Amino acid sequence: MDINEVIYTILFLLGGTYTAGTIKTILADECRLAQLTQPHKFIRKSPISKLDVLPTISDFQGKEELLSFYRVLSAMVEPQDLANFVRNFKDVTITRKKASILWGCLGSYDVHRNVLNIAKENTLPHEAFHLSSSEWDKKQEFGYMGFKQANTTTCIGSAMNEGYTELLTARKFQDGRPSTYCTMVRNMKLIELLFPDAKELEHLYFSHDLFTTIEKLEDYASFDDVIHLILEMDSAMHYSGLPLNPTSILKYAKIEFTLYNWLLSKNPSVEQERKFRNIICEDKIYSLIFALYNKKISKKDATDMIKENQVTSQYQKKKIIKMKND
Ligand SMILES: [Zn+2]
Repeated sequence: MDINEVIYTILFLLGGTYTAGTIKTILADECRLAQLTQPHKFIRKSPISKLDVLPTISDFQGKEELLSFYRVLSAMVEPQDLANFVRNFKDVTITRKKASILWGCLGSYDVHRNVLNIAKENTLPHEAFHLSSSEWDKKQEFGYMGFKQANTTTCIGSAMNEGYTELLTARKFQDGRPSTYCTMVRNMKLIELLFPDAKELEHLYFSHDLFTTIEKLEDYASFDDVIHLILEMDSAMHYSGLPLNPTSILKYAKIEFTLYNWLLSKNPSVEQERKFRNIICEDKIYSLIFALYNKKISKKDATDMIKENQVTSQYQKKKIIKMKND
């Protein structure tokens, strides 16, 4: 246990998992947000994973659980979307370090070392989805994990990645009910509705292609606005450790209204708009904020505002350099 872990454990004993977790993430957030103001030179085409066949390998702890996950995965995705699972399965290490529960970590996947830690047994499918959508680029010292890209100094897309990972976990293993990251899951259901084909988003996740995901979302907003929304989602996630945290609720409300306005700007069908509203209103607090918001801004006004670029510019713009395929 390092010194940080000792501090978080003491905080946990004093104030519970949420307090310890929130202080931990807010401290980390300060450093991370400083990085995020720098130009995002790292966004580029993700490496294409080569499809291989699942090897026959000797037994290791957790092998059977991973193979039963693989059977579910291979029934739900196209063969090319199995590439990351097959590669990572060859030399994965599965640990069961229960101590991490003390500071709120029930499971984790370390893409750099290809280590999957299962502190609580039911987290295996969520972590196995991470394993199935991640690749460590040794040359660049860079990690691609579903919708997240990160190295030792900066990262983007954590909230999208966690939300979508738990969305898949809930759909395939938990009767549709997420057990964690509930707001991020709802955000990702909204983003999914912005794609004409939900399978397309699924493929982008398994091929860890954040870049193309951003390109697709540029149908609704500028590159800068899409990046800013992704960063706002990351920021909101880091403030969401405490239940009913006003900073996080406000950030999430802004994110959902932005997505709603993106949808309205494309003249959606009544059915599509209804689905979108229903997802926002799955949570009572956001349902209330949404009702208040709708009284102030009609559909026509929102569309006009988008045209005049007033709604999306409500966020402070950060200078971002778009670098394609470099
Ligand atoms: Zn996760």
